Amino acid sequence: MDMPLTPELKAELKATANAIVAPGKGILAADESTGTMGKRLANISVENTEENRRIYRQLLFTSGQTMSQYISGVILFHETLYQKADDGTPFVKILTDNNIIPGIKVDKGVVPLGGTREEGTTQGLDGLAERCAQYYKDGCRFAKWRCVLKISTAAGTPSSIAIVENANVLARYASICQMNGLVPIVEPEILPDGEHTLETSQMVTEKVLSATYKALMDHHIYLEGTLLKPNMCTPGQSCPTRYTAEQIAEATVTALSRTVPAAVPGIVFLSGGQSEEDASVNLNAINQFQGKKPWKLTFSYGRALQASALKAWAGKGDQIKAGQAAFLGRAKANGEASEAKYQAGTGGPVSSESLFVKDHSY
Ligand code: 13P
Repeated sequence: MDMPLTPELKAELKATANAIVAPGKGILAADESTGTMGKRLANISVENTEENRRIYRQLLFTSGQTMSQYISGVILFHETLYQKADDGTPFVKILTDNNIIPGIKVDKGVVPLGGTREEGTTQGLDGLAERCAQYYKDGCRFAKWRCVLKISTAAGTPSSIAIVENANVLARYASICQMNGLVPIVEPEILPDGEHTLETSQMVTEKVLSATYKALMDHHIYLEGTLLKPNMCTPGQSCPTRYTAEQIAEATVTALSRTVPAAVPGIVFLSGGQSEEDASVNLNAINQFQGKKPWKLTFSYGRALQASALKAWAGKGDQIKAGQAAFLGRAKANGEASEAKYQAGTGGPVSSESLFVKDHSY
């Protein structure tokens, strides 16, 4: 049996998790894999080279003091963790000097789960302890691992095998992270693809999260030193019924209150293809919703923090400032939304465009 976590390690994990969900702050997910970053750059006709990826991430990380008012942590991809700014300063130093905690994506992507109807699991456990130990030495204090579940009434998904397998692999990942000083962000993402209603989304979310916490408890995970990164409960992308932000908030908070232990310090939502504006408005509604909410409710957005920034920058050297301004606008909007203080429409222009990507991979 592995040694249990020492009191010192527990205290450190808890402090890190709490710092990430400090009031008014959330996470920038900038851990797109090389392939996914390529798709984002292709949208603005920028070539997917290591240098262009560095220039873009530099734009985000050097956007200035305001960033740290709203962003407590940044999730990095392996390549980015070791990159430097033009003046030679490592990105990690830029972030930590600004009181922003570096995190790292440690999963190795979704692979097919045999015997299911196109469901998947996430790989990357082999050598994970060694990688986590190295990432800790290199300045990371938290990690992310994304699992994916799909809703299809016709295919009967998510299947029990997919739910159990993904819950278990998230628990193994969380255990390895904690032994190495990294706060695990547990991400069982239910994709928005499909025609399902808000009620179905809520029901499936409850099923998946209860299985996830059963596995985390079975694996003796120290919940105070973890964060959950779930989807909000939203209707499927092709659902003909429209719902208000208040209905989405009620479904989401209800599902979470039924399944996520109060010991978990924070829930950091993914944006999951919502438009930038919807992601801010829905987070705001979630925080305004009157219900049992024993955890912080904030953001860990990728697309919903970056879409306008990418467009405004468009790969042009003289539009870096415009890209940074767009990014900071969304960061502020979401920081405010995490405290139920966001005024719709104040996060910047061109922000209502859907960012949905079919069968999204990361
Ligand atoms: P989106 O906010 O673009 O859904 O991505 C967040 C993320 O980190 C997915 O793993």
